[in-house]
Amino acid sequence: MLLHWMLQLYLRIFLRRTKYDDLHPEDLFVGNRVNVFSRQLNLIDYGDQYTANKLGSKKERTLALIKPDVVTKIGDVLELIYSSNLIVTKAKMTKLTSQAADFYVEHQSKPFFNNLVQFVSSGPVVAMELMGDEAMSIWRRLLGPADSTVARKEAPQSVRAQFGTDGIKNVGHGSDSIAAAARELEFFFPSTIGHGPSNTALYTDCTCCIIKPHAISEGLTGKILNSISAAGFEISALQMFNVDRANAEEFYEVYKGVVTEYPSMVTELCSGPCMVLEIHGTNAPQSFREFCGPADPEISRHLRPTTLRALYGKDKVKNAVHCTDLPEDGVLEVQYFFKILDG
Ligand code: GDP
Ligand code: MG
Repeated sequence: MLLHWMLQLYLRIFLRRTKYDDLHPEDLFVGNRVNVFSRQLNLIDYGDQYTANKLGSKKERTLALIKPDVVTKIGDVLELIYSSNLIVTKAKMTKLTSQAADFYVEHQSKPFFNNLVQFVSSGPVVAMELMGDEAMSIWRRLLGPADSTVARKEAPQSVRAQFGTDGIKNVGHGSDSIAAAARELEFFFPSTIGHGPSNTALYTDCTCCIIKPHAISEGLTGKILNSISAAGFEISALQMFNVDRANAEEFYEVYKGVVTEYPSMVTELCSGPCMVLEIHGTNAPQSFREFCGPADPEISRHLRPTTLRALYGKDKVKNAVHCTDLPEDGVLEVQYFFKILDG
């Protein structure tokens, strides 16, 4: 009897056939996480073969690694990625140590191996999981030929032609097979044991910026990162997070009962992946807050038309970015993501 009751509870249907406007066919692929009626659901398989053929035939994931030479131009690279119909499902800024030699182990015996390993570990890199139809070949085509000089001749529109220097300083890396993609994604974003290479947060003279889920899904990430860099701010850490409701409530705790939008802010923050940045510099909390503009984009557009919220916000909740309010909270908010949630 008890068992029967427990089973009933366990199997209770959460979702009946219903129309749900916020979910789009392109969100429905294995490995994605979607938010339906405030619940995060992981898509683990297709219900039947027809659906698999229809939705999953050419979907791939690949690793894109942005090398140290262009980390400051990450916004431009993301713009190209989004315009090729790929989406970024994971991202993390990290600095490789001797791990770089493990990552490039297949090139161990090549003459350029030492230079390559040394360069890739010489500064921050950004590892990303890209997802989409034929993601692997599309990203490699976007990169262009490995030697940037050759790229300028043979594929002038490619990322390496535009931003690369030579064969080693050549913007990025892309997995060259399904097996390599699986190994390389596991290297940066381990699914089971271990933590992967550490994030680059400094926790001093910093403020926290969150590119909100609506802005990510509208494909604004590259534009927002470009605006931040163009305004002279240093992005010292960057990572995508899927925030669950409990963590969103905890993060926004100080606004509870103070700001009427609190419940909608929580819902927005856990509605999909967000990108969290540590912005570093003297006076970063004050100056970055000014650069974000008033919380209401309508007001921003009237008073401060060049601010992030004026440019990319929709309303008081979907206002493109969160930024730390009080200077003394900058380190705490950065710690919440980069120490606690990435812990
Ligand atoms: P990719 O898959 O097109 O990135 O190229 P590979 O996997 O063959 O090589 C990995 C990295 O090693 C490239 O991104 C280059 O930076 C470097 N590399 C490969 N071949 C050469 C080469 O012949 N000369 C130099 N200097 N670097 C190379
Ligand atoms: Mg390769």
